[in-house]
This record gives sequence, structure tokens and C-alpha cells, in this order.
Amino acid sequence: MSIPSLLQTLNHPLFIKHKIQVCIKRDDQIHPIISGNKWRKLKYNLLHLTEQNSTSNTQMGILSFGGCYSNHIHALAFACMQQNIPCVGIIRGEKSNKNNFTLQCANKWGMTLKFVDRKTYRRRHDQDFLDELSGLYPNHTVIPEGGSNTLALQGVGDIITELNQQAKFDTVILPVGSGGTLAGLIASDNNQHEILGICVLKDGNYLKSSVYDLLPEQSKTHDKWQLLTQFHRGGYAKFSPEDIERLVAFNHKTGIIFEPIYSGKMILALLDLIEQGYFPENHRIVLIHTGGLQGIGGMIERGLLSRTDWAVPYL
Ligand SMILES: *Cc1c(COP(=O)(O)O)cnc(C)c1O
Repeated sequence: MSIPSLLQTLNHPLFIKHKIQVCIKRDDQIHPIISGNKWRKLKYNLLHLTEQNSTSNTQMGILSFGGCYSNHIHALAFACMQQNIPCVGIIRGEKSNKNNFTLQCANKWGMTLKFVDRKTYRRRHDQDFLDELSGLYPNHTVIPEGGSNTLALQGVGDIITELNQQAKFDTVILPVGSGGTLAGLIASDNNQHEILGICVLKDGNYLKSSVYDLLPEQSKTHDKWQLLTQFHRGGYAKFSPEDIERLVAFNHKTGIIFEPIYSGKMILALLDLIEQGYFPENHRIVLIHTGGLQGIGGMIERGLLSRTDWAVPYL
């Protein structure tokens, strides 16, 4: 476990050409398996639960939700094994996925997997479905999909606390899925910095209000954050061969691996924004590497990425 995570200077010819300073917060290095922002989001949730369990006769487990390749499910399964917490994953998809890279790990680490179809999965926020699940799995506390809840925001907020001790900077850039990580950064930033969320989903405009709703009252006045929705590259987990080529080249130049679903889309957006002259000279940018490298395993498995270009040590 390496906390605070490293803040590292990122070198690239484009940054020099446009006189922009770019650093990267290496949350991908916090833990070899528990993916960067998922670790941040789980931290206080797990602490809270273990504290509760230590003073109670009923030992609570965790129930959560995710897709077949979910970084959250992968991280949660490992963290629960480490801390001896029973866990259940409600997985969107067919049972036939249970041997894919992600779920094989989750299963091996002791997570109980329950597969549901898309229609059922859509009910994941509905009280009647949650009641049904708590009947099936009593003594399990629910963490929402992606781990985004109030305790998660607090964990993500630690990133800003660490950054303020590590450097002076103007803009933070991060990839956005559910918006929980973006909300956590805004909530602890105190309106100090520009915060740019790069939406990795198509038609992500609805996320602006989800992020706003997640914010505690005193942070709703933060007016230097934006969700940029034009960099999704076709939709969630979609990318073109050119995108992959650009990303592989960037990974080689910097010696850091960015996967194409989240952090890679942030990188491609950064390159586009710099080329468009979005940032003034001497601007200081901090990128958040949110991890997620386990997802590469599933993409190699499905033939979407080549093993030679994407040699991640532990996959
Ligand atoms: C889940 C995830 C995100 C998105 O985080 P949200 O809080 O859902 O917006 C970004 N990067 C990686 C690697 C992730 O696994």
C-alpha cells in the first residue's frame, strides 16, 4: 500500500512545444490489484464496516453491483478477502462470463457471484429489488455500483489533501464514469482549482446533475469544475484503431500504462485539448491516474488489444 501516491512529472514533446507542465498522480500504484480510485472509494467504507463489526455480534458483509469486467467488483473482491469480509457481487450478464479474467479473480478471492439480466440490473437502485436481495443475502450492507457513496467521496477527497502538500497546480484532469470520483475531488477542493472531468460515456450530459447531487451542500458553490462530454470516442469501452495507436505511442513515450477505457480517454482528451490551444503557456496540470489496468486482461482475452502492446506485469 503506497499512500500518499507519487506525483510524477510527465514528459512529452507536445507538452514542451506548448509550454505546459503536466504531472501525474499515480493512484494506479497505490496497490497492485485494488485499482486506484476504487481503493480510494472503498477505504472508508471498509473501515466503517470493520469498526461496526468489531462492536457487534452480527458480522456484516458487503453486497455490490457491476458489469462482467468491472474494476470495482475486482477491487472489492480482493479487499474483502484481505479483510475477511463476506461479499456478494450482483453481476450484469450471463453466467458464461464467470471464467473471464475479472470474474475468475473475484470468484477465486471468495466473492459470491449472482448473475442477472440487463432488465433486472436496471433495478439496482429500486427499494423492492434491494429488499429482495437483502432477503437472499441477509446481513450484507449495500455499496452502490462503482462504489460511489458519501464515504467514497471522503476517500477520494484525500487525493486533494495529498496534492496540496505535493505541488502547486492550476487544473486537475480525471476520467469520469459514474461521477463519484469527480464529486469527491470537487467536495474537498474548496474552489481552489479548475477540475476537468473527461466523460468516457456517450451522451454523458446527465452526469452533470448526478455529480452536483452527490456534492455536500457547502461544495455546491464550486464553480471551477466542468464535465467535458465530447471525448467519449464512440461510447463506453469504444475506441478506434487510431485511438489505440496514439495511446500505445503515449504509453511508450512516458513509460506509464494508461488503459483505453478510462485513463486512456483522459490522455487522448488532454492531447486534443493541448493541440486546440485550450491551456495557456506555463499552465500546470495534474492528471489523476485512476488505475483500472486489470481491465486490460479482459480486453486481451476478447481480442480487443494485443498482448505485445499491453504487457501489464501482473496480468
Ligand atoms: C471506475 C473508474 C473510473 C470512474 O470513476 P467514477 O467515480 O465512477 O466516475 C475511472 N477510472 C477507472 C480506472 C475506474 O475503474
